[in-house]
Amino acid sequence: MNEQDKEILHVKRLLSSKSAEIRTLNEGQHFKNAERTRDEHAAVGKSWKEFWQIFTLEDFPDTCPFCGEPLQVNEIDGCHIKIAGFLEGSWSSKKYIIPGHHGCNMQLGDEFDARIGIKAVEAIEK
Ligand SMILES: [Zn+2]
Repeated sequence: MNEQDKEILHVKRLLSSKSAEIRTLNEGQHFKNAERTRDEHAAVGKSWKEFWQIFTLEDFPDTCPFCGEPLQVNEIDGCHIKIAGFLEGSWSSKKYIIPGHHGCNMQLGDEFDARIGIKAVEAIEK
């Protein structure tokens, strides 16, 4: 991402005056795909994919956090996840967004160990 792209994303966030919690998902950390309804739209940005970038100001990873396979920008979804809690079988009450394959995003309810470290942005709905 060049400086101009970054500036545009930054301005989008400022204009929205929204804030979202950002957590770091470490490599090996446990998470699961979160169910969502089709009518949940990102509060900022034109998609959940752009939403992630607006709040992280980072390039998309070239490895999918779900499967560890190469990730091309055009196949990325902004995926809703829940992060495992300290207690066995407990999950974060909030949903977070991370980039990943569309196909990986479709495996609703499946559990994963993060294949790379990645920032997870609290999903703020419209
Ligand atoms: Zn994947």
